[in-house]
Amino acid sequence: MKCLGCFKITNQIYCPKCKKELFKNHKLNFTLDFDKKEFLSTKIALSDHMSISGVQDKIALKIENDKLVPAINNSQYLLKPIPLMDYGELLDDVVANEHFTMQLARQIYKLDTASNALIRFSDGELAYITKRFDRVEGQKIKQEDFASLAKRSEQTNGKNYKYDYSYEQIARLIKLYLPAYKLEIIKFFKLVLFNYLIGNGDAHLKNFSVLQRQTKDYTLTPAYDLLSSSLHIPNESRTALELFEEYETQSFLANGFYAYDDFIKFAFIIGLDEKIANKIIEEFLSYESKAIELLAHSFLSDEAKTRYERLYLDRLKAVRYRYQGCRVCT
Ligand SMILES: [Zn+2]
Repeated sequence: MKCLGCFKITNQIYCPKCKKELFKNHKLNFTLDFDKKEFLSTKIALSDHMSISGVQDKIALKIENDKLVPAINNSQYLLKPIPLMDYGELLDDVVANEHFTMQLARQIYKLDTASNALIRFSDGELAYITKRFDRVEGQKIKQEDFASLAKRSEQTNGKNYKYDYSYEQIARLIKLYLPAYKLEIIKFFKLVLFNYLIGNGDAHLKNFSVLQRQTKDYTLTPAYDLLSSSLHIPNESRTALELFEEYETQSFLANGFYAYDDFIKFAFIIGLDEKIANKIIEEFLSYESKAIELLAHSFLSDEAKTRYERLYLDRLKAVRYRYQGCRVCT
């Protein structure tokens, strides 16, 4: 069968490598002993106030007596089920979408991502599970998202506070707060480009965070919450935030979508050398066949695979498109 972590063929639920990475070789029953209904009632019991949006979201888990159980304290994992709310298309594919996208980021695009896999509820339904990176050996590590770094909240900036911002401004915060910003800015550029290629229109301020290292300084966290949101909401905006604070390339003005020139200009504005940016773009475009091969192994439905592939190929085409060819376009 296919490993519920990396898709490799194995004779168990998880291959030895994934088992070690996710569960440190704990002898566990790798199927949850509760179903989604019980998950929801636990979620309601664990939350302070009940709201539908909170309910369908996620719960924390920990290992106790060789079982994965819901946890309030000392949790090690987060579990996300297929949403109950009907907010888009192909919703039964949401968890397989997030899992495939995270594996694509990790296995093919070589991005640093949170450890993740699928896991079955007691009735066989799949859920997405991810290991918390803000806990090491039970110790909490300080984590802060970019809404907080940008000092934005619903109270101060209104309902749209997570979206009313730009990736250029996030890059400015990276320069301000992260000592190793020259490396971090490359990671950030790759993540923004990756999100564009896979159709993640929901990479908002709270989906980027920093972690405090043992040396007390901050670094970007591994990537998390990556999925092709456009698969479920086809007409949403291509990016959650605009690339630029106040700028549009000639290419964008002429065509209305981000293309090669925009990413080169974006790189320039955030302090990334054009040659490096060009190399990253070329590299990312060259992963096409590997990405499609991995997609075939994913747990997405055939319909979702077809649509995901179409969307991804369309984005590759957009990024290959050069309007001026941009030597840091005016
Ligand atoms: Zn595996």
